Amino acid sequence: MNKVPIAQPIIGEEERAAVLKVLGSGNLVQGDKVREFEEAFAAYCGTEYAVAVSSGSVALYLALLAHGVGPGTEVITTPFSFISTATAIMHCGATPRFVDIERTTFTLDPEKVEEAITPNTRAILPVDLYGHPARLDELQELCDQYGLSLIEDACQAHSSIYKGKKIGSLATTCFSFYGSKNMTTAGEGGMVTTDDDILAYFIRQWRQHGMAQGLVGFNYRMTEIQAAIGCEQLKKLDAMNARRRVNASLLTEELGDLVVCPTERENCTHAWYLYTIRTDRRDEIKKALNEAGIDARVYYPRPIYDEPCCTDYKMDCPVTEMLCKQVLSLPVHPAVTEEDIDRMVEVIRCTLE
Ligand SMILES: *Cc1c(COP(=O)(O)O)cnc(C)c1O
Repeated sequence: MNKVPIAQPIIGEEERAAVLKVLGSGNLVQGDKVREFEEAFAAYCGTEYAVAVSSGSVALYLALLAHGVGPGTEVITTPFSFISTATAIMHCGATPRFVDIERTTFTLDPEKVEEAITPNTRAILPVDLYGHPARLDELQELCDQYGLSLIEDACQAHSSIYKGKKIGSLATTCFSFYGSKNMTTAGEGGMVTTDDDILAYFIRQWRQHGMAQGLVGFNYRMTEIQAAIGCEQLKKLDAMNARRRVNASLLTEELGDLVVCPTERENCTHAWYLYTIRTDRRDEIKKALNEAGIDARVYYPRPIYDEPCCTDYKMDCPVTEMLCKQVLSLPVHPAVTEEDIDRMVEVIRCTLE
């Protein structure tokens, strides 16, 4: 029985050839390839600048710093995300302020965001969870009204679309190229996109020590090998995501009457990083799928404020708490076959019968 991992990098001949070329080129770090990858990524997103860094977590950290997030400030974000959404805020010396989400798309609820704004709030950090865009227009309106910055965690949302615009072009946006994501750069990597030349300038300085400008930067560079892989992966991104979309719609066709299936909000295109169902019998289904070789997983089993490093920022977010007990993510990556999907559906159907 073949195993179906929850995520899997799809690396072809093009990536291999590009890596070998870099190895023979005489330069291994932050050179022409990184510049080429940045330019291609900015063009893809429809934004002025893209700055490549060493990871998605670093992208978040530097984007927050560039927007003046520091000690004494607060950043409003979701408790239903990967931990580094919050730890990036904490590394800036700022306070994460967790606000509850919408149950249909698992993204930040703008109505609850407004209630959480204080004189210390500096930024709003929504997450496009599982690949679905947050309510960016409503959040941008709040930012305009209260003088805040919108910084988007799109680490799971390469190529998703919001009201006709590519994610990456609507706010200062952070991407990850970790090996599990919709595209990778050798397993690790990150990018910040922005239309603001000053923000781009500061992030470029900080990623490479920044001493000449009197800044205390550090080493957050991307290597030429990573960028070479990234350039090839970007060319394949639309085709890979089309596969994800087909897999997601097959699952919805088959599972619609058994569990609550994920949906796309009007005017949004999902990137289908993960296909996340909701059911009260989550634990049984997960066990049965895992026994059948399907690596279904729970993202996320508890709110970030219940993680040991974040208990100082404890909040009460009932929608998040409920979803933590119900969600189960199924693999939909491009290597998932129709046969794999039939097997998932069969296992879920049998478990619920
Ligand atoms: C993957 C991920 C990150 C972190 O990216 P890394 O490249 O692993 O540092 C941040 N936020 C979200 C929502 C992610 O999924």
